Amino acid sequence: MTSTLLRAYIISCVGDLWSSKTPLPFAPKIPLAPTNHRFSCGMATKAVQFKGYALTDPSKWNDLQVIEFTPKVFEPEDVEIAITHCGVCGSDVHTLTQGWGESKLPLVVGHEIVGTVTRVGDKVTEFKIGDRVGVGAQRGSCLQCRECKDDYENYCPRSINTYNSQYPDGVVAQGGYSTAIRVHERFTLPIPDEIESRHAASMMCAGLTVYSPLKTHGAGPGKKVGIMGIGGLGHYAILWAKAMGAEVYAFTHDESKVEDIKKMGADHVVNTSDKEFHKDLARTLDILLSTRDVFGDSTPLGDYLSMLYVHGRFVTVGIPDADDTLPPLHAFDLVPNGCLMGGSKIGSKKECLEMLELARSKSIKPWIEELPMREVGKALRNLKNNAVRYRYVVKQDIA
Ligand SMILES: [Zn+2]
Ligand SMILES: [Zn+2]
Repeated sequence: MTSTLLRAYIISCVGDLWSSKTPLPFAPKIPLAPTNHRFSCGMATKAVQFKGYALTDPSKWNDLQVIEFTPKVFEPEDVEIAITHCGVCGSDVHTLTQGWGESKLPLVVGHEIVGTVTRVGDKVTEFKIGDRVGVGAQRGSCLQCRECKDDYENYCPRSINTYNSQYPDGVVAQGGYSTAIRVHERFTLPIPDEIESRHAASMMCAGLTVYSPLKTHGAGPGKKVGIMGIGGLGHYAILWAKAMGAEVYAFTHDESKVEDIKKMGADHVVNTSDKEFHKDLARTLDILLSTRDVFGDSTPLGDYLSMLYVHGRFVTVGIPDADDTLPPLHAFDLVPNGCLMGGSKIGSKKECLEMLELARSKSIKPWIEELPMREVGKALRNLKNNAVRYRYVVKQDIA
């Protein structure tokens, strides 16, 4: 097929896909680059519309309205999932409040998704209709680069986020506070029968985001692991680090969480409102994992680093708003104990499967609060105000 013919073929095909009785929330960008034309015209002759709770006005960041949206084109490697549950992540708040920059509009967020497979593409080998599956914060990558081939697809430079990103053909990726999602099977996770959907949902981002660095940096027997910030991510970090056999130190300034933190399994709870909290723990920790997504200049990061043993590692998984940089450090904060600083971004499918097996085999359950999806605005507000114990999960209620 010549390129002119190919383009005409694609435009007629996409024209079909985008026809709809209701106005589209965003316009497709046509024509497409030839490498993106892997879909089949015959598979989708009518525009499919999904529904979701969307941000339509950034001045009302948690007042989400039900909209209809057109999903990505269904491709042979895709699965379509009817969403039953979605966890409420801090990323949703940063995106909705425009803290990470201007978001697309309208936008459905949510990237801790669990549901049931309702359709599989011709090339899908791992899933069948009726399977219970999950989707986390990533829904696509190039699958060809060094990172993708090394099971580091979460670090692929062409990663596609589950929401507020765009497919190469211009379709905006919408998230999980919605009726359904289409995702490449590489980014679809099988949920073990023993794990309830309401429990699996928040594992897809919060759970994986802390599992990955704990695994990468060697949390296990004989290791001392510190966790900063005991919210949705931090509580998972305690659960996983204990299950991996590490000795766990939880750092919090919130007295009201202390009893919960002990029940989660932390061996030590350190109150950081005491300015001297770090002194007795100098050169103790092998790993210090920060889930904080607010730093500010007043965070005594140097004091935290002083608690690391030789070559101990400080790893942040929290990503504050764009104007909230890490506190200033001096080389003296790093040199005396030879400590290292780094970050970690969600996790790979390989790690997610390991995490689910750990949760299954050790019957680990997250601490969650459930709400109907229509109350997601309340969940988001409480999350922003640090008034959640410890993760909200919303349940499908769009007819
Ligand atoms: Zn890649
Ligand atoms: Zn997340």
